[in-house]
Amino acid sequence: MTNLQGKVAIVTGGAVGIGAAITKELAQNGVKVVINYNSSSQAAESLVASIKENGGEALAVQADVSNSDQAAKLVSAAVDTYGQLDILVNNAGITRDRSFKKLSEEDWRKVIDVNLNSVYNTVSPALAHISQSDAGRIISISSIIGQAGGFGQTNYAAAKAGMIGFTKSLALELAKSSVTVNAICPGFIETSMVAEIPENVLEQIVAKIPQKRLGQAEEIAKGVLFLCKDGAYITGQQLNINGGLYM
Ligand code: NAD
Repeated sequence: MTNLQGKVAIVTGGAVGIGAAITKELAQNGVKVVINYNSSSQAAESLVASIKENGGEALAVQADVSNSDQAAKLVSAAVDTYGQLDILVNNAGITRDRSFKKLSEEDWRKVIDVNLNSVYNTVSPALAHISQSDAGRIISISSIIGQAGGFGQTNYAAAKAGMIGFTKSLALELAKSSVTVNAICPGFIETSMVAEIPENVLEQIVAKIPQKRLGQAEEIAKGVLFLCKDGAYITGQQLNINGGLYM
């Protein structure tokens, strides 16, 4: 088991939703967390304050991770502040759901940029630092949609499937090092992203989930903690946390 006390993590999009749950879980386990946000500055600052009140260490850093210069500055801020980087959680993501006939080039590029190109943008500057860790972890929050596809989600499914291919390939390249590379594929999790789905559509989705409920952000955070703490021999995998919706 890896002792996480004093380890340093970056969580992209870590101020709200699944990212905030991951941030809290890691902080509760002694990890110094760099909470990246794009526009949610208030949420990020209040999360930093609450982690500090509970005796943890945290830092909020604004960066649009779809921009490579800003992603590089995010990594520098983490290393300059805490002197090391052990864990990178690529969580930032957006949807722009439209059937392919209605999908604009901008809808395509934006979703690929924020969900997939951001992974390149963060891993690229982070890898040299994470490689120095005795238990480096690169974890990308992909999606069930990247595995099974989704109506009106060609852009999002392509980005999330791309994250899985990236994960397997980088895992192979780093297998001889102490760095593991994995993806988590959540099903439908109760956050603002799922709140965008019309209620009648969501009811139909829940009816198809074998466990008959949406997942909670904390249930994804527990998966991240497991990979960080107990995942030394787990690499190149997709951890499905989806109530049985995709097997
Ligand atoms: P959310 O909308 O609550 O959170 C998304 C986060 O990404 C926010 O913090 C947002 O500020 C951040 N973000 C967006 N664009 C960014 C950018 N350019 N730079 C930096 N940060 C940016 O949604 P969520 O449900 O918490 O989603 C978190 C991740 O989980 C996403 O990658 C999403 O695709 C994935 N996911 C969610 C679900 C679900 O059902 N909620 C299912 C599968 C996968």
